[in-house]
Amino acid sequence: MFPVAPPSIADDHDAMQASPSQPAESASYADRPATQTIRIDEIRRPGTGRLPTHESPLDEKQAAWLGGLDTLHGDADAGAPSGSQGGSAPAAGRASAGHPAVPPAASRPALRDTRREDHENNKLSKRLYRLTGQAIADYDMIGPNDRVMVCLSGGKDSFAMLDILLGLQKRAPVPFSIVAVNLDQRQPGFPADVLPNYLQKLGVEYHIETEDTYSTVQRVIPDGKTKCSLCSRLRRGILYRVASELGATRIALGHHRDDILATFFLNLFYGGQLKTMPAKLVSDDGRHVVIRPLAYVEEKDLIRWAEVKNFPIIPCNLCGSQPNLKRAETKELLKSWEKRFPGRLETIFSSLGRVRPSHLMDRTLYDFNTLRTGDDAED
Ligand code: SF4
Repeated sequence: MFPVAPPSIADDHDAMQASPSQPAESASYADRPATQTIRIDEIRRPGTGRLPTHESPLDEKQAAWLGGLDTLHGDADAGAPSGSQGGSAPAAGRASAGHPAVPPAASRPALRDTRREDHENNKLSKRLYRLTGQAIADYDMIGPNDRVMVCLSGGKDSFAMLDILLGLQKRAPVPFSIVAVNLDQRQPGFPADVLPNYLQKLGVEYHIETEDTYSTVQRVIPDGKTKCSLCSRLRRGILYRVASELGATRIALGHHRDDILATFFLNLFYGGQLKTMPAKLVSDDGRHVVIRPLAYVEEKDLIRWAEVKNFPIIPCNLCGSQPNLKRAETKELLKSWEKRFPGRLETIFSSLGRVRPSHLMDRTLYDFNTLRTGDDAED
């Protein structure tokens, strides 16, 4: 008998995690029903496989999500600056995308030649839109008339997600609406006016939900212990309820490629499972579809984009919780790999889209018992 599978690794700060919606692990592998067996040919569908990079050719569906990208953002390869003199960052120039841009950082010297910077920012913009559009298309994240609830924590990732989704909305092949939602957890020092001010300027529909989960977490979890697990569970439940109240059909979370990779290794190292945050899943309550439109995007691009767009970022340490050392260590490990072996993370990420159940050990995913000579050979 195998022991019960260890608990899944939760992402600390962002609201929701894949594991609760997955089928519950049974007490032993032998107890698993035979009906769970899936053959590899049932799993492999056209279009699945290596996950794309910004250089991958677009298929028809991906291209539909990116129609007009060059028209909108200029031709990055041509290197045309959108504002070569002082303070006019290309992001500000992109206000024509349909929503007003946040003013650029004020500290830029007035007469600096920003052509190279503009060119790089233009390329970054195209890369972000392209990868997000690809992910949405690949996983059918958004369908006609979906109401997408964009969970806005005040961090760089969720700001970028909202920004990019608003841009893509203008040329998406299907009509969909967006409502931005922030949960004010009553953390001490939380600047409650920052997000409403930002969202009002943006002109996007929004809702601020206020609920004092901070006090609950402080009361239940002793100081010195990590509070993130309970905090995330509380937040998840509230956001699901709010999604229902707002009539949202999609809940969009700002997790990016590096979150997905870190969660994969955390589950591998500490959870004893091969799994991570999926790009799309059904919510715990079975009533919503949770999507991660930034699934293909690298964190460093989001850091840079937050600088370009000058998002009014709210610090994430207001709760005073201990940092998640395991996650931080895992992220450092991944960074050091990438430094020593450039391209390694891209390869690992690609592998998440090229799973071969017949070459792993999970008897619920592949029917090893009935495997006979004469069956189709697998590489
Ligand atoms: S306890 Fe603090 S750091 Fe942890 S998830 Fe909650 S708000 Fe984020």
